[in-house]
Amino acid sequence: MVTTQEKKTEEKWGMVIDVDKCIGCQACVVACQSENNIPVNEEEHFNQRRPIQWIRVERYWEGEFPDVKARFIPIMCQHCDNAPCEPVCPVFATYHNSQGLNVQVYNRCIGTRFCANNCPYHVRFFNFWEPSWPESLKNQLNPDVTVRSRGIMEKCTFCIQRIRRTERESGRDGNELKDGDRALNTACVNACPTDTLVFGDFNNPESRVSKLRKKEMDDHHGRGYKMLDELGTSPNVIYLKKVDKEAKESSTH
Ligand code: SF4
Repeated sequence: MVTTQEKKTEEKWGMVIDVDKCIGCQACVVACQSENNIPVNEEEHFNQRRPIQWIRVERYWEGEFPDVKARFIPIMCQHCDNAPCEPVCPVFATYHNSQGLNVQVYNRCIGTRFCANNCPYHVRFFNFWEPSWPESLKNQLNPDVTVRSRGIMEKCTFCIQRIRRTERESGRDGNELKDGDRALNTACVNACPTDTLVFGDFNNPESRVSKLRKKEMDDHHGRGYKMLDELGTSPNVIYLKKVDKEAKESSTH
């Protein structure tokens, strides 16, 4: 019999996003779009304010013209421990799993959209249309991910298909899950050219995310913060704030 001590602690997946490194290139958005079979957003979808992007890079401006600076912040599902989307779903289509992931069960969803209305991060998207791809793109659909039909709510899953595949393969080969393993990483993390996004297991003290969290959240001078944390959602995505040397210098003069 396996005792509690012998039992391996389950992973708790999370992400650290260093806003200081993001250059707004949107490679993460394209990688996510293609990994997760997200429908092509045509102009009319944008015009109706209904494009689907599981990760978006918000652009905002700081300063006054002409000293204005463009800033970027990538935003996806925050996989909150206290997710406001979960208690409002009448059919339990969205729930929290034992690895800290906020899961969406597509074929249980009945499309009430209560979850999207209750999400303060606006990271849930409703399929208003039956998805379609141009003929030339049909062979690029990912066979590990379902194609969601009309009437379904969808959102970032931290590329759960990659997590499950790596778990299966490591179980088969008797290997440990390796922190930072490319196959275990989410598509956005692998695509980011500036190492803005770091994905990993918060329950492993040796993982990069755990070390960053310890350094940036526990230290009084750390750059870490959680988005809209005051709402009590307890997100599993940690942001590291921008370092603006010029602003620092001008404030010291
Ligand atoms: S790929 Fe990296 S640098 Fe580019 S927008 Fe996404 S997070 Fe920012």
